Amino acid sequence: MSDWFRESLYDHWSQSFLISRELYRSQGGMQDIALFETPGFGRVLTLDGIIQVTTGDEFIYHEMLAHVPIYAHGAVRSVCVVGGGDGGMLREVLKHRSVEHAVLVEIDAAVVEFCRSHMPTVSAGAFDDPRCEIVIADGLKFMAETDRKFDLIVIDSTDPIGPGGVLFTEAFYKDCARRLTAEGIVVNQNGVPFLQGEEITDTWRRRRPHFADVGFYVAAVPTYVGGFMALGWASHSTRPRTEGLDQIHARFVAAPVATRYYTPDLHRAAFALPRYIQELIPG
Ligand code: SAM
Repeated sequence: MSDWFRESLYDHWSQSFLISRELYRSQGGMQDIALFETPGFGRVLTLDGIIQVTTGDEFIYHEMLAHVPIYAHGAVRSVCVVGGGDGGMLREVLKHRSVEHAVLVEIDAAVVEFCRSHMPTVSAGAFDDPRCEIVIADGLKFMAETDRKFDLIVIDSTDPIGPGGVLFTEAFYKDCARRLTAEGIVVNQNGVPFLQGEEITDTWRRRRPHFADVGFYVAAVPTYVGGFMALGWASHSTRPRTEGLDQIHARFVAAPVATRYYTPDLHRAAFALPRYIQELIPG
């Protein structure tokens, strides 16, 4: 009998992975951590039974949450990644020479340590980049207490259950808005609209009072099953999402980074939302 891992995100539907080798399992910490090798997706990391990262398809998620806002903005220097303990978001953000400083605010030190040693290709040395700072703290508390300003805040969180729940609240978005520079952008993983449609509606309602521009774009990530994944966008300025979109090709040519999913054409296309997703946006 082969061993299969079955994800427990939804109570009416799930995906399963054939496990070729279990590499690690720890219970009793802040979150249960498991790592296993699979034939199709490489190494798969789960927290509390939910897929977080696979070495096979993580590039899609990380590239789209990093490069879309960075090229739309055009001059991102200071970045805050909230969550993202696997280091993949830092890796993509730090590909940009314009980025002078990136602080990772992760609630669970065990995820950072674990991923650094067991999934080194995901962070690819980013934790050791001199521009990177690691803060072990609750993102909600950090954002409420910091007096720093950021050009880009990437909320690379778990789903809105467990410790990640606070990263989907209006209080947190309000603090993100206070910590953003005038042209700054906040992006986040906003669930899979076909299965988690309320996340789009809730995020829009909770952000609308605090930002001039609130929207969503999409990416297709195989292990975040159920069709397109929605990526949330918010800014005090409409410029990055309107004028910025006309500039991205020139910016990419002037300061290219190596990608496997992101292209300037895809960047523009990602903002074209299917009607079933548009209908979830109250405005
Ligand atoms: N791409 C992933 C996904 O959507 O499945 C998310 C990856 S990343 C590993 C998510 C990280 O967010 C986890 O390491 C978790 O510990 C962290 N996290 C959850 N709640 C947090 C909070 N309140 N403050 C900071 N980090 C948090």
